[in-house]
Amino acid sequence: MKLKRSITIAGKIYCVTGLCIGGSSNALEIGGVSQEVIKNPITKEPYIPGSSLKGKMRSELEKRYGSKKWNKSEMGKMVLESEEREPCGCGNKDCLVCSVFGAHKKQNAKSAPTRIIVRDAMLSEESKEMIKSLPLANRSYVERKVENIIKRDIGTADSPRTIERVPAGMSFDFEIILKIFEGDEEGKMLAFVKEGLEAVESSYLGGSGSRGSGQVRFDYDIVGYEDAENGQPVSGEA
Ligand SMILES: [Zn+2]
Repeated sequence: MKLKRSITIAGKIYCVTGLCIGGSSNALEIGGVSQEVIKNPITKEPYIPGSSLKGKMRSELEKRYGSKKWNKSEMGKMVLESEEREPCGCGNKDCLVCSVFGAHKKQNAKSAPTRIIVRDAMLSEESKEMIKSLPLANRSYVERKVENIIKRDIGTADSPRTIERVPAGMSFDFEIILKIFEGDEEGKMLAFVKEGLEAVESSYLGGSGSRGSGQVRFDYDIVGYEDAENGQPVSGEA
């Protein structure tokens, strides 16, 4: 397939509520945090892994358009096993989920190659400045939030867990590159990516979403619109 152009979407991810994203756990230590925020190991600044944003966009779009889990009944009829939708791995050429995000586990899918690249979203300069302006004692990139787990059957609280969050008001710089190949419906693909971002806004990013974490807002523009020459990117990564 011949590359036609790459479209760069870039902007900010604003944390409307605290964001609990993709770190490790040291809950086994006394006073440990059950869920840490992922950070750059050198600067200790939190970031949003591109894989987390991409995965969430995909799963939200699959809820709308993806395949459901079907099982063959004894009568040879297909019956719906559950409402839970599986990651789409159909690999069909006309499947937007598979062509934009990649066919799940499927080798040599007709939908290939994956059209989207989602970069890690780094903490914005504004947020860094905001933290620098705080008195030293108050400076932190993360907040710690204690969540009580209520045992509903007996109505008592289990030992509370502590999670780390990126505080509300912080922002990150994000970038998504959409590659358009000959024969692709560019408008549809671009609209699908935008819908993915909008779907994440109406859901949440990261963990503890049902407890209020992870509400985000995207503010972005199309910043690059680069035609390929003879199927080769003109500059940089396609
Ligand atoms: Zn598919």
